Amino acid sequence: MDNRQDLVAKYARQAPRYTSYPPAPHFKEMEDDGPAVSHLEKRNAGSRPISLYIHIPFCASLCWYCACTKVITRREGDSTEYLRRLFREMETIRQMLNPGNRVVQVHFGGGTPTFLSPEELRQTGKKLRSLFAFEDEMEFAVEIDPRRMTQDHVTALAEIGCNRASIGIQDVREDVQKAINRVQPMEINERVAHWLRSAGIRNINIDLIYGLPLQSRGSFEATLNEVKVLDPDRFAIFNYAHIPWMIPSQKLVDRNPMPGPHEKFAMLEMMIENLTASGYSYIGMDHFAKTGDELSLAQQNGSLQRNFQGYSTRADTDIYGFGMSSISQIGDGYLQSVKDLDEYYRRIDSGRHPWFRHYYLTRDDRIRRHTIMRLMCDLQLDFIAIGRRWNINAKTYFGDSLEPLKEMADDGLIRWTTDGFFVTDTGRLFLRNIATAFDVYYTDPEKQGRYSKTV
Ligand code: SF4
Repeated sequence: MDNRQDLVAKYARQAPRYTSYPPAPHFKEMEDDGPAVSHLEKRNAGSRPISLYIHIPFCASLCWYCACTKVITRREGDSTEYLRRLFREMETIRQMLNPGNRVVQVHFGGGTPTFLSPEELRQTGKKLRSLFAFEDEMEFAVEIDPRRMTQDHVTALAEIGCNRASIGIQDVREDVQKAINRVQPMEINERVAHWLRSAGIRNINIDLIYGLPLQSRGSFEATLNEVKVLDPDRFAIFNYAHIPWMIPSQKLVDRNPMPGPHEKFAMLEMMIENLTASGYSYIGMDHFAKTGDELSLAQQNGSLQRNFQGYSTRADTDIYGFGMSSISQIGDGYLQSVKDLDEYYRRIDSGRHPWFRHYYLTRDDRIRRHTIMRLMCDLQLDFIAIGRRWNINAKTYFGDSLEPLKEMADDGLIRWTTDGFFVTDTGRLFLRNIATAFDVYYTDPEKQGRYSKTV
């Protein structure tokens, strides 16, 4: 099948994004902290590089498309209350960590990390440095909403060591912005990018979303050309995940017409063509990085990694998540914190850990996680290499699960090689579909309804 329209019709299905394996809906409810605590203790018998994820849930207004775990508020005191618990959680985990663990990556996500006042950002940075040992060459990234940023926020971020900022823009057209309740004139983006660079935060990512109401291929190309002027090192351009049955506020997005799968597919093809012609490499899926950026180099030399923050060059470290709804990925275990703010406070105030779900990978999960992550990063699989890594005959091991790949090969999404297959240019647009072949949980119909469509 080489007709793109037919491929879109056939493969526009709900599937995980594979930022973890198994995907988070398969994590299990925790009855007590015992297994999680002993998992952490075992993992900390030796020292290793670690990453920290800090979740700041507050936002001053609701963007209707948003699927993040957030709390809408304008009360400044809310962040003070939150930080008190966040710091306590960090102190507790710090006591469980091997003192030899050194931090190679910090990520502030949200919500809106810059909801914190400049002074609160400074306090958070100071707290982190008092508890953890930071490597000199570490990455310190912060997600930024330019709408309420002041120059003092940027100064505070630079002071605490931030060296990468992701500016959330989504789309620059006013009609689209009104249709998603996120009005953000381009001058604000330009001003914040200028402040960041002047403060020495030179690594700048821009986040966009395609598939939003009132967008078309043409309008999104205009947006892309406009934001390219900001000269970011990287773009993250996400396919809008419209799942109103899971996120009721997304019903507000339905007030305006949304591009269908065929138009979205045309947008994806356009952005790949546009950005690769402008000196960016297409990384895995959703991401673009300037040729020469460490993400592009990592993709070329096979060291690219994937985790909850997308693609990374440092994702093979344990990730300790702090704050409500954060997920820790520690060795072969995942721990997720409660998603309700009051419950998070109750647990921390009573001296308990905030985790409510966990998952410890079996050997089969580990083999499949490795396989799916290599596919998502390298865009090819070498069954001989996988067999050697896990001491298995990979083709026999995956057996029947390789059946769907035969049809994908017939459809031109992959091409077989002597020892495996590689993903074709067409197949890259359906990477999540290809990965489902190795996901033993994908057939669970109850969980499938929680994923967004691949196109
Ligand atoms: S998109 Fe960002 S700023 Fe908007 S509601 Fe979601 S987390 Fe908050």
